[in-house]
Amino acid sequence: MKCIYCKNAETSVVNSRSNVPGCIWRRRECSECGMRFTTEETSLGNNLFIVKRSGKRQRFVYEKLLTALVYAFEKGKDSDHGDQALLARDVAMEIIAHINEKGRKEITTALLITLCYESLRDTHPHAAERYMHYSLYREQVCAPLRAARVKA
Ligand SMILES: [Zn+2]
Repeated sequence: MKCIYCKNAETSVVNSRSNVPGCIWRRRECSECGMRFTTEETSLGNNLFIVKRSGKRQRFVYEKLLTALVYAFEKGKDSDHGDQALLARDVAMEIIAHINEKGRKEITTALLITLCYESLRDTHPHAAERYMHYSLYREQVCAPLRAARVKA
């Protein structure tokens, strides 16, 4: 990690802490200028695999989850609750923290959709509905269409 002050490439970790599962906080010190700064490292589920309905395993892509959640928050009646992208990120982080906490290495598409839906349901019911429609559409309409196209 480069020093944020002098751009020196060598910094050392002087302290680290992990309060949230999947998230680690580090205090770094630059060997050149001696300045200290804090970094936060978050696991975005990079080692997680998604098991599709077809049984195919696919590496989990954080951005895909985020896209679905941003879509869910857009235009809905929840729009005035704040910045959709930030809301979506909070939910995504919560889901990933939950998965990390359980120590899962893989998760089925159905379970991932359920977790997101449940996480949204109480606080953002409209976003929860939109998320569900979006996910089921992708899962039940887009995926079979793609599969059919590959076979043809
Ligand atoms: Zn420095």
